[in-house]
Amino acid sequence: MNTKPLSAVSIEGIMAHLDAFQAIANANGGNRAAQNPGYNASVDYVVSVLEAKTNYTVTVQPFNFEITEENATPKFSQISPSPVDYARYLEFNTLSYTGSGDFQASATDGGDGCSASSFVGFPSGNIAIVARGDCDFSTKTDNAVAAGAMGVLIYNYEGQGAFSGTLGSTKSVPVFGISYDLGRSFIDTTETPVLSMFCDMSVVTVYTSNVIADTTIGNDGSVIVVGSHLDSVPEGPGINDNGSGSATNLELATELYRNNATVLNKVRFAWWGAEELGLLGSSYYVAQAIESGEINNIAMNLNFDMLASPNYFRGVYDGEGAAAGIRTGCVNIENLLTTFFDFDNKPWNLTEFTGRSDYGPFIENNIPAGGLFTGAEVIKPDNFRADYGGMANTAFDPCYHAHCDDIYNIDQEVLISNAKAAYYAVTTTSATPLLDRWLTTAQQSPKDRVRAPHHALPTSNVFTKQ
Ligand SMILES: [Zn+2]
Repeated sequence: MNTKPLSAVSIEGIMAHLDAFQAIANANGGNRAAQNPGYNASVDYVVSVLEAKTNYTVTVQPFNFEITEENATPKFSQISPSPVDYARYLEFNTLSYTGSGDFQASATDGGDGCSASSFVGFPSGNIAIVARGDCDFSTKTDNAVAAGAMGVLIYNYEGQGAFSGTLGSTKSVPVFGISYDLGRSFIDTTETPVLSMFCDMSVVTVYTSNVIADTTIGNDGSVIVVGSHLDSVPEGPGINDNGSGSATNLELATELYRNNATVLNKVRFAWWGAEELGLLGSSYYVAQAIESGEINNIAMNLNFDMLASPNYFRGVYDGEGAAAGIRTGCVNIENLLTTFFDFDNKPWNLTEFTGRSDYGPFIENNIPAGGLFTGAEVIKPDNFRADYGGMANTAFDPCYHAHCDDIYNIDQEVLISNAKAAYYAVTTTSATPLLDRWLTTAQQSPKDRVRAPHHALPTSNVFTKQ
């Protein structure tokens, strides 16, 4: 193996970018969310580094989206039989894109809410109570509204509390996520409860952008898109999610140029906006590429989202999980990354490849992809502690989507090994002649692919629609 990738990227280079993202969050209300000024400052920072350190063609690609904002604090109470005011976050939460409303009504069981038949006999004007699961929140809400529901309560899986998630687009009625116990208590009672829901929302258009940087050399009919989302959630500075991927991507971009790496295929570095609101930036990019025909020039996508979780595992997207048409390419990309980790004597595991980060719009359009992930809110299983150490009964990232996802929430050891693997994947594919053929031809025999045992792992709810 060419060991140059071991030295080209440095932890100091990546940490300098993470320090900059932390400073941006500190100066902008503690976050870098797409709808807030910290995001635009992050865009400016990435552009300024690219312009200072590379000769790439840098483009800021604008797009916009709608969000709903609260005009007042939402409220949820039981009027009868027993008057109770429920606590926000603890006992109920709003779903993103909830509608407005202010009313009292009886609550009626709507089953799972996934089809019109769930609402046969539903009294129009009531509040629908539906179970989480089987279909997305939006479908449940639309079916309930079609049956005349004034509001929708979605209760969580058994044993789980109040929750949020996204409805994807603005709804006409209030939609709250409540605990399993509360939801069942409304249904498993002889006396129909009368509940009160209050939600006052405005729809706001947000103007934001992606950053795109193209190498000036390389075949522009065979483009490698190397992406990472640049936005955080509003709850915190987003230094692991996804400062870690964004900073690594910036280091890859500047080092590829500084080291004068072989670029036979054009490399397009991308920093996506509004991932946390539903993969909006990458979806917009892919939709535009389809419209312009540029999609036909895109050979593959690499995605780097959460590369430095403090209680990490070393996850590589499971290419076998891809659709048949692109599986060979996805497996080849996976093998590049794992080959590097094997060479570097680092343990790794395959991880879910179902479209929950910005590679989603690419694989949906038959572009092979791969990437890295070090874990989010899922509790680290025992058998992972044997390989990676870390803390028992603790999430891979205990600060996932929280205020404490700051500069101290970074494991530098896993971050640099991931950055080196990423650089190895970028420099190998950018230097591969006939990349399309490489992507459609198995690069290792099934025998070569007998790997260290790995464990299936439920991974991130980066974006909860169900
Ligand atoms: Zn993320």
